[in-house]
Parts: sequence; structure tokens; C-alpha cells
Amino acid sequence: MIQIYSNSLGKEELNAVKDVFNSKWLGKGPKTEEFIKKFSRKLILENHNSVAFISPKEDNFLTINSCTEGIFQIIEFLDIKKGDEVILPSISFVGVANAIVSRGATPVFCDVDQHTLNPSLEHIQEKITNNTKAVIVLHYAGVPCDIKSISNLCQEKSIYLIEDNANSPFSYVGGKSTGLYGDFGVWSFDAMKILVTGDGGMIYCKNKDHAESLRKQSYLGLESSSGLSNSIDKKWWEFEVSSAGRRSITNDIQAAIGIEQLKKANGFISRRKEIHKMYIEALKDLDWIKLPNIPKLVNSSYYMFHVQVKDRDKFAKYLREKEIYTTFRYYPLHWVDFYGSKDKFPNTEYAANHTLCLPLHQNLTNKEVNYIIETIKKWN
Ligand SMILES: *Cc1c(COP(=O)(O)O)cnc(C)c1O
Repeated sequence: MIQIYSNSLGKEELNAVKDVFNSKWLGKGPKTEEFIKKFSRKLILENHNSVAFISPKEDNFLTINSCTEGIFQIIEFLDIKKGDEVILPSISFVGVANAIVSRGATPVFCDVDQHTLNPSLEHIQEKITNNTKAVIVLHYAGVPCDIKSISNLCQEKSIYLIEDNANSPFSYVGGKSTGLYGDFGVWSFDAMKILVTGDGGMIYCKNKDHAESLRKQSYLGLESSSGLSNSIDKKWWEFEVSSAGRRSITNDIQAAIGIEQLKKANGFISRRKEIHKMYIEALKDLDWIKLPNIPKLVNSSYYMFHVQVKDRDKFAKYLREKEIYTTFRYYPLHWVDFYGSKDKFPNTEYAANHTLCLPLHQNLTNKEVNYIIETIKKWN
């Protein structure tokens, strides 16, 4: 079976983990600091000569045990509660809606473009009310949404903007990384993402005081730092608590893996780009299949390759019988009873009925990609 997602963890990661084992410091420590520093530096687009933005500082970042938990933490930190509304595209990750509902707030879904599956400025605009507290967008498949306009709109209306950046590590608009446009950006390093640490995530906060508060909130709400960094003339077992925080931190095992993955990230993305191009070149003349388009002036992380066809379910079944695993991401949340939405979204519904994500990852061989292409060509 050809898998749709894969990851590349090898001897470099194993050796890095071994070093952490030998150090006896497994918890959040020096490796985590190093990972945050290297991650934040890597968000600056290489060879980019624009100075139109301030490069992000490591103080603005913190690690978190998953992207889902990161969004829960941010929603809680912003004190979003009953009576508040948060706008998100219906085509979003389920955990994002749960974070809103868990606070008693209302998830307000919006439509998306039927081909890109990203929301437009208008889709968001038409859902804004006096109760709108925040907007949460993702960059579908790694292709940035219209984040500049959306960010301007949110600033104008004093609405928080959160970017779910799980699809788009190292995606750029105008030389600036996605995830850095909003008030908060959240990345995922789970096993199906591009950069993998087993599980884990990263939060960026535009305001570094927010990052400091989230660092405390995600570690039991503790005010004072650990015994190690306390001065010895203090009673190091005393502490203060500033919020009813859970424990959502990451450890140095994950960070050590992340540091190695960062070195490989460019390679992952360029291989993904190559495969993306092979699909486009081979399938562009077929009139029954709609291919994804990456606009000029943006850089994609090439996280997913989504096509649209008339008989999507039959097409998926056909590919599955030929040992090619595909899927559709993300099942529309306004169709999920639990969220109680009465919305009708023509574009989202079109997308949900026609879109299929083909295998796209750095471990696919040319032989496999050609097999997928030939199998697709034989359909119809
Ligand atoms: C994977 C994913 C998440 C959740 O990430 P976790 O780290 O697994 O919690 C959130 N949003 C999107 C778009 C995702 O693809």
C-alpha cells in the first residue's frame, strides 16, 4: 500500500535521542531552548533580501505538547468564554472547534474557496459580529490563505487572529513565514506532519508578554522558575501560581529529534515540491481532474496535493484497490452534529464532495509516483 503521509526519522534522530538519554536530563531543558532558537531562526526565508519585517525573536516562541493543546491554551489565555464568537473555516481541524466549545464560546463557521479550500477575506468578513473575539485560519495544504488582508481586517476590528500553521511550516507570503502574521501562530510536529517529533508543537506570540504568560500557563501556572535556576539564598521549594494551568510542555527527547528534523526540512520540502511538479506535469492535460494551483509570490510547504473529480468516492475506492491510499482533509465541521451549525456553504460542500488528497511525502520514490500517475490516467 502506498501511504498518503510518511515521516523520515533516522540515525541522526536516534543518536540525538541517545545523547539526551546519556545526559540524564530528559525533561524540558537545554535541548528545548536550542530547538526554539533554531526553529525561530529557520522561519526567516533563506536568500530573502527583504527587510520589510522584523525577524522573530526566540522570546516570542514556546513549545507545546501538541498543536491542538496550543490552540486550547491560547483560547483559554484570551479568556474567550460564553457569549463570545470565534470564526473559523468549516474546513478546519476538529480540535480547533473543540477548543472554542470547551470554553462555552460559539464556533462560527465560514465558507472557503471551492478549489483552494482556504477562506477569503469576504468569507470571514460576512461572519463578523459585535461578539467576534477571534478568527482562526489555516493555510490549506501548505498554500497560504489571503493572510495579509485577513490580518489587516482583524487589526482594524480589534479581533485576535490565530494561525493554525500545522499545514504550513516554511510557507511564505512576501518573504514572511505564515504563522507570524497573526497574534498567535501554532505549528504541529505530530507523526503525519512535515517536521516530526513524535508529538509536539510550537506557539508564536506576536507579543512576547503573551508568550511569557503562556509559558507559565502551560506549566501548571507556576510563577517561579525551577529549583535549578533559583538563587540558593531563597527557599527553592516555595512557589506562586498565577493561573490554573495544566502541564502541556514538551521534553528534551522531542526537542533533540526536532533539531535534527530542522536540518532535513529543506530536503523534505524540495522533494515534496518535485513530486508536486511531477503530478502537475503528468495530469495537467486531463480535463476531468482539477489540479491545485500555487499562486506566484507565495512559497508552499507542499504538505498536501489535493485534486477534485466528479465521482470522488468511486475514484478513491479505485485507487485504494490499486494499493494507493488517499483521503479527504478536513471534513466540514458544519456537518458535524456536535457543533449544532445550521449553515449552508456551497463552496465547502462542493469541496467536501469532490476533493481527494493524493499521497505526497518525501519518501515516495519516482517509481511510486509514476505508478500513481499511470493508475490515475487509467481511470475513466
Ligand atoms: C494535525 C493538525 C492539527 C493538530 O495538530 P496536533 O499536533 O496533532 O494536535 C491542527 N490543525 C491542522 C490543520 C492539522 O493538520
